[in-house]
Amino acid sequence: MTTLDEALAGLPDYDPNHMTVELARTIIVRTACPVSAIEQVAIRGALGRVLGRDVISPLDVPAFENAAMDGYAFHSRALAAGGNVRLHVAGRSFAGHPFEGDVGAGECIRIMTGALLPAGCDTVVPQEQVQREGDTEIVTFAANAVTPGRHVRHVGEDLAAGHPALHAGKRLRPAALGLLASLGVAEVPVRRRIRVAFFSTGDELRSVGESLAPGNLYDSNRYTLFGMLTRLGVEVLDLGVVRDDPQAIENTLRTACRDADAVITSGGVSVGEADFTREMMTRLGNVVFWKMAMRPGRPFAFGELESDGHRALLFGLPGNPAAVMASFYHLVRDGLFALMGAEPQITPSLPVPSATAIAKRPGRTEFLRGMLAPDDHGRWQVTVADAQSAGILRTMSEANCFVTLGTARGDVAAGELVDVVAFDGLV
Ligand code: AMP
Ligand code: MG
Repeated sequence: MTTLDEALAGLPDYDPNHMTVELARTIIVRTACPVSAIEQVAIRGALGRVLGRDVISPLDVPAFENAAMDGYAFHSRALAAGGNVRLHVAGRSFAGHPFEGDVGAGECIRIMTGALLPAGCDTVVPQEQVQREGDTEIVTFAANAVTPGRHVRHVGEDLAAGHPALHAGKRLRPAALGLLASLGVAEVPVRRRIRVAFFSTGDELRSVGESLAPGNLYDSNRYTLFGMLTRLGVEVLDLGVVRDDPQAIENTLRTACRDADAVITSGGVSVGEADFTREMMTRLGNVVFWKMAMRPGRPFAFGELESDGHRALLFGLPGNPAAVMASFYHLVRDGLFALMGAEPQITPSLPVPSATAIAKRPGRTEFLRGMLAPDDHGRWQVTVADAQSAGILRTMSEANCFVTLGTARGDVAAGELVDVVAFDGLV
């Protein structure tokens, strides 16, 4: 198990006052120790869960030799003489209705895709290459148009019995459920679901349903966090709004630590506020306060809490709503995947031309809200949202992607390629 101190040791570039996104993520992932408990669940219940152990295939896939095309199955010896091959159709092999006899010399079997290849056959000639002689049971085709062994799927060619079908650490998506079913596997070992507690801090915050006094605003972070966490497939524990009072925050953190594997707070980590938070959090464990070289989302706290023998990871997010979302996706998410025991997730990031010029200072990573859409010629381009302030949720809600401009990047000209991560993929 790696502690935060171990994760920080030997990092020559570590500077808490200028943290790159990449380094912060590395430290977070190294510190997050996967939950160890594993439970057996039925296939449907495994959707979105993380596989705890490899699933070894109990079957060969395919389990029997079968046709890859609709056509006629025969033995390739018939091709030896060359010229026109002439065969008698001696029977049929359809899916679920195999031909059970022997296929002799000069014979073939009408066969459909997926049907069992009859004994004595090793090749399928597709029906498009075959002529039937009138109303007879005789087919002919050119020998040189057919390769021996073609259009046959062999036993175990997709997956051999005894080999891993799915690896530990895999997050199970619909295709994996189908694969398990295709192997006749009814239950799989998955890591227990992680539990993530979260709360908002701020004397100005009110919850939906309460009335607003002057200077108050509605707490939105608990709702974006609820949405983002639920989509990751974790169990959520909403601890509400907590006043800007060290004792109240400490009590809530202790509760969270007892009941959850990770705690996410928002607000109260910016300069000034961080001082009392820091003092209080050091009583609960080992917490580092970072000034992130990223926008939105500058202040960020990360650490290991311990209370009454319970441990939890702490992610202290800034208060601004768009900063919460950017920090969650670019820093917290990979830490939670590591905690779930998931293998590192690949998030596709693709270069797309920017429709407009973008002003950018080198020295920090910017995650801009953007709209990916085809231009008038059907070519994909991205347009960054008009308002990128960390406090603005509207453009976060209108956007369909992040445009990532890395630390070294300066101003972007219209038409230049920028890296884009789409919020939604197909699955
Ligand atoms: P803080 O990081 O606590 O200084 O908060 C930065 C800004 O984000 C302030 O304008 C807060 O009012 C706002 N803010 C903090 N928490 C929330 C929240 N849960 N929902 C909406 N706005 C918030
Ligand atoms: Mg605050």
